[in-house]
Amino acid sequence: MSTLKIKNLHVKVGEKEILKGINLEVTTGEIHAIMGPNGNGKSTLLSAIMGHPKYTVTSGSILLDDQDVLEMSVDERARAGLFLGMQYPQEIPGVTNSDFLKAAMNARREEPISLFKFIRTLDKNIEELDMDENLAHRYLNEGFSGGEKKRNEILQMKLLQPKFALLDEIDSGLDVDALRVVSEAINSMRSDDFGCVMVSHYERLFELVKPTHVHVLVQGQIVMSGGYELVEKIDREGYEWIKELGIELE
Ligand code: ADP
Ligand code: MG
Ligand code: MG
Repeated sequence: MSTLKIKNLHVKVGEKEILKGINLEVTTGEIHAIMGPNGNGKSTLLSAIMGHPKYTVTSGSILLDDQDVLEMSVDERARAGLFLGMQYPQEIPGVTNSDFLKAAMNARREEPISLFKFIRTLDKNIEELDMDENLAHRYLNEGFSGGEKKRNEILQMKLLQPKFALLDEIDSGLDVDALRVVSEAINSMRSDDFGCVMVSHYERLFELVKPTHVHVLVQGQIVMSGGYELVEKIDREGYEWIKELGIELE
């Protein structure tokens, strides 16, 4: 069992404070949904946990069990078992998808994976995700459609087997069939050794991947936490009701 513990996290982008004291504790076995209006800091939170250099942590702490995540490079965070499925995956011309995946897998292993085993694992997962097998040999994300990029993030997650996956709007750009395939892939990861933080605007994803915990992030703070009923309320009513709690929406 592992725990990712975020305490009183404050994060700036440039001069602007985006996160204003986030507290969140995720244990393996749990799936946490984060919802909230656009521009309120959801991507900032996931990117800051992974260590994206654009986001500056000004105070607070992030612990992965007894390890101080804020002291670690992005590479070290990945090796420790953190994974970010990005809202806007980067195109990396010149690096093939398969070389990238193999390097990322090897970074988490003592001994490099054999080519035979790598290809077998890659093929199996590409088939399960209903992806075009050519995508493995193309440059990473270059010219991929929105849906292909999202599936490719899930392919990375499946191959890397992280302890904690941070999935940022993994459902955007997916049609109904692709959403089902991706949801099944996430559900197949569920175990006592896997925890997940999922950002999405839509009940459709959370119907397929039922979160154990739901949080609403507004203006850089988690203003409410609960269970699945919060997803349903937001689907029905949007966020206007947040104002009644005395919280301003931008
Ligand atoms: P969400 O994921 O909830 O839609 P984000 O975390 O992406 O929100 O953004 C939170 C805030 O940070 C927004 O006000 C956004 O405009 C701002 N922001 C994000 N990236 C940058 C940047 N590179 N420079 C300045 N502001 C940024
Ligand atoms: Mg957004
Ligand atoms: Mg976002």
